[in-house]
This record gives sequence, C-alpha cells and structure tokens, in this order.
Amino acid sequence: MSDALPITVPEFAGFFESLKQRALAFPHCADCGRFHWYPMKACPHCRSHAISWRRVDGAGTIYSWTTVRHAFDPAYQDRLPYIVALVEFPDAPGVRLVANVAAAPDTLAIGMTVKPRFGGAEDDGTTVTFVPTVSG
Ligand SMILES: [Zn+2]
Repeated sequence: MSDALPITVPEFAGFFESLKQRALAFPHCADCGRFHWYPMKACPHCRSHAISWRRVDGAGTIYSWTTVRHAFDPAYQDRLPYIVALVEFPDAPGVRLVANVAAAPDTLAIGMTVKPRFGGAEDDGTTVTFVPTVSG
C-alpha cells in the first residue's frame, strides 16, 4: 500500500510541499516569533495572521512513543509492530510532530535523537519517517 497522504486540508499544504523537497517546515508567527503545530489560520499564541512556513533542520528528539501491535485498519496489518512517536525539534520549540519511527521498540528511549527519512516505500515524496541518530 502507498504511504501517500492526500493533501485534503489546505492548511497542511506547506508541510507537504516541504516534504516533497525533503525538508521539514512548520508554521511560524512573524509577530510573536513562535512556532505552532498543527497549522492554524491564526497564531494560537497571539492570534496574529502573519504566519509563514519556516524550515527546520529536521533533527529531533523523542518526547514519547507507543508501539502499535494491533492493526486498526487491515491495510496496516503487514507493518506490525510499528512505532508512533511524538518528535520535538530544538529549532522549532513547541512543535511535537506525530510520526513513525523506524526502530525496534526495545531500542527506543525518551530523549533519543532522531533524524528524518523522507519518502515512503514508493518514495512519493510526501511522507517522513524518523530513524534513530547513531551517536558517537
Ligand atoms: Zn504569534
């Protein structure tokens, strides 16, 4: 099955456009200087409409995660088990992205550093999965 996520909500278009360029970008408010996630028409911090997409490095840390062992949709049966995590980004404070992490569940830890891997199984350019960063 395809990992492609259709762009059905216009507010997310900037996110998917950046994924096609193998980059991450999040909404940033020019008035208060803060990021937010999910995309909104007005800044949730100051209600400004001066919002633009700002690219980030992509390196992040795991805030939390869960291991999915039951396929709620039969289309995901062949992926089990898989990791769904909240990933934070040091250059986008306040953003926590829900994303898959490609790793064995028993190797993960809160605060573990991860980096993005763009493209899905069919490399359609509209997905991102995170992989642990090898330290050393
Ligand atoms: Zn703001």
